[in-house]
Amino acid sequence: MFPAAFNYLRAHTPDEAFAFLQQHGAEARVLAGGQSLIPAMRFRLARPGVLVDINAVRDFTYLRNDGQVLAIGPIARDSEIERALWIGERRWSLLHDVSRVVADPVVRQMGTIVGSLCHNDPSGDWTAVALASRAEVEVRGTGGTRTVKIDDFLVDSFTTAVGEGEMATGVRFPVPGDATAGSYQKLERKVGDYATAAAAVQVSLSGDGTIREAGVALSAAGPCAVRVDDAERALVGQRPTNDTTAKAVIASGRFMIGPPQGAAAWTQLSYSRLGRGRQPIGWPGGETTGRHQSREHRLFNQKIYGPALRRSHGRDEAGSLQSEVGRHGRRPH
Ligand SMILES: Cc1cc2nc3c(=O)[nH]c(=O)nc-3n(C[C@H](O)[C@H](O)[C@H](O)COP(=O)(O)OP(=O)(O)OC[C@H]3O[C@@H](n4cnc5c(N)ncnc54)[C@H](O)[C@@H]3O)c2cc1C
Repeated sequence: MFPAAFNYLRAHTPDEAFAFLQQHGAEARVLAGGQSLIPAMRFRLARPGVLVDINAVRDFTYLRNDGQVLAIGPIARDSEIERALWIGERRWSLLHDVSRVVADPVVRQMGTIVGSLCHNDPSGDWTAVALASRAEVEVRGTGGTRTVKIDDFLVDSFTTAVGEGEMATGVRFPVPGDATAGSYQKLERKVGDYATAAAAVQVSLSGDGTIREAGVALSAAGPCAVRVDDAERALVGQRPTNDTTAKAVIASGRFMIGPPQGAAAWTQLSYSRLGRGRQPIGWPGGETTGRHQSREHRLFNQKIYGPALRRSHGRDEAGSLQSEVGRHGRRPH
């Protein structure tokens, strides 16, 4: 289908983009990578009267790490995060993980991180990652630029704190400490699909090897990505062991979705062959160690706890944890 008629305005500076948005108010929509907006227009789910294209705004392409925050501009593409060498560093593993599984490589060439946050699809990948890493979004409005915590930014499905005539001018991810690691685990029917369920987890350890900070969020588990604060509370202050993981999963009980013991959305991750009639393996209400663990449970342990521990003082503990979780670190796709 063709989209409904619209006017097209190309901005070259942030001020020009903002002026266009102010001028056209509710009629106008920002066009970033177009990977969500254009399909929505073609299906006539969105009928903006005016498109304000920000792709020519050079000042919006930035990707900066000033030591405190990683600042990502509104036109920084998914593929740029995927290709940034330093993102391969362990402390950024959550961002590295997600940057490889959003849609497919073609979509990632154009799609932007800020655009994904502004789109706020319930099954979007970046929204859960932004929650787990406690990102903040900069929003420019008539009163100037304000910084909005991601929890307040994501209002409801396809709804954010960006108001009429406003625009998001960047997202800021706090630079994680050395003893930090994270992982994004996404179940999808096939590579390139939206998540059937996904979890973003990031933990930072203190010098004594206990968990100092934890971020846990789910995608495709509610009207928009959700922070699992019960799980975060269950993790903080604890030593990173399999049992701690199990307790965090059980603490996610409010996301229970069905099967006998009550499966949290986290447990969807245990349905590693969703739709093929398999029973979940290793629901953490049962046994929590050894071969009864779900593969994803082990993945979390191996990808997050192991590396984070190696960076703290608990090298020996990391070693024993690694041998306990086995060699199951392959990505699901
Ligand atoms: C085939 C396909 C598969 C996909 N699979 C996935 C997937 O698995 N996971 C996933 O997360 N996403 C997926 N997407 C969506 C994709 O990641 C989009 O790129 C992303 O959702 C939006 O980014 P964008 O830059 O393209 O934004 P656009 O499509 O340009 O904009 C999206 C919305 O955000 C608004 N917006 C954008 N930037 C700003 C701004 N700076 N200020 C205010 N409003 C703004 C727009 O007005 C629009 O309403 C898929 C898309 C396609 C086409």
